[in-house]
Amino acid sequence: MKLLENKTAIVTGGSRGIGKGIAYKFAEQGCNVAFTYSSSEEAAKKIEAELQAKGVKAKAYKSNAAILEEAQTLVENVLEDFSSIDIVINNAGITKDNLLMRMGEADFDKVIEVNLKSVFNMTKAIQPTFLKQRKGSLIHMSSVVALKGNAGQCNYAASKAGIIGFSNSIALELASRNIRSNVIAPGFIATEMTDKIPEIHLKKWIEDIPLKKAGTTEDIANACVFLASDMSSYITGQVLNVNGGMYI
Ligand code: NAP
Repeated sequence: MKLLENKTAIVTGGSRGIGKGIAYKFAEQGCNVAFTYSSSEEAAKKIEAELQAKGVKAKAYKSNAAILEEAQTLVENVLEDFSSIDIVINNAGITKDNLLMRMGEADFDKVIEVNLKSVFNMTKAIQPTFLKQRKGSLIHMSSVVALKGNAGQCNYAASKAGIIGFSNSIALELASRNIRSNVIAPGFIATEMTDKIPEIHLKKWIEDIPLKKAGTTEDIANACVFLASDMSSYITGQVLNVNGGMYI
């Protein structure tokens, strides 16, 4: 049985890494997938074709998650192209790491805009649709560093911690309408984002992970399938840690 048959999902930041992994896994589970990218047009077109080859409807949209109007236009376009939306995965994110003493205001603001404001934008944009249909699943990508902090990532950790407070509040606001809001907090998942981390730090991180390995995009995608599907219909306002025991 496919867990997401006849559902449609929007995945932000689906052109690589975790978002791409989610798009593939969702397509395998029978889900139609609308996904966004910021600049990776060529990669997005290739993914779009590969998803369609799995027998689902799929389309890539260039949309800046940090801008509310673009989120609203995205929802309008996806509704026109797909007729309905059941799941929104707020996955798009960036890092601009530095110690506080070297971090400029612009790098703080940018990370908050792309990682946190984007979650407000997409949730605000989808709310009328979810309210009208009296159902919907929102999944927001946070991080283990939201809970434990990380030297050199105060902007990123603040943005990811903000997502948890936002999601819990939305879960309370919308629960009576059968709209669920949950967070996934990945630990260390090997993607292009983590490719930027110096080798010496990577080794130390992996040593400190109780399961002694990095997670995969598939590990996160599996958790998303659960939170998106009717298997989790009584679960809202939760943070699901997918981190190999990194933060217990
Ligand atoms: P990634 O490989 O760097 O991919 C980021 C994705 O977000 C890309 O598709 C990118 O599009 C898109 N994006 C960036 N800025 C955007 C914007 N303004 N509007 C729309 N899309 C935008 O990152 P990842 O490692 O897969 O991470 C995905 C999410 O998981 C992020 O929220 C990240 O913070 C979180 N996370 C990751 C890890 C990890 O270990 N990897 C751990 C914890 C949490 P383009 O390709 O067009 O730039």
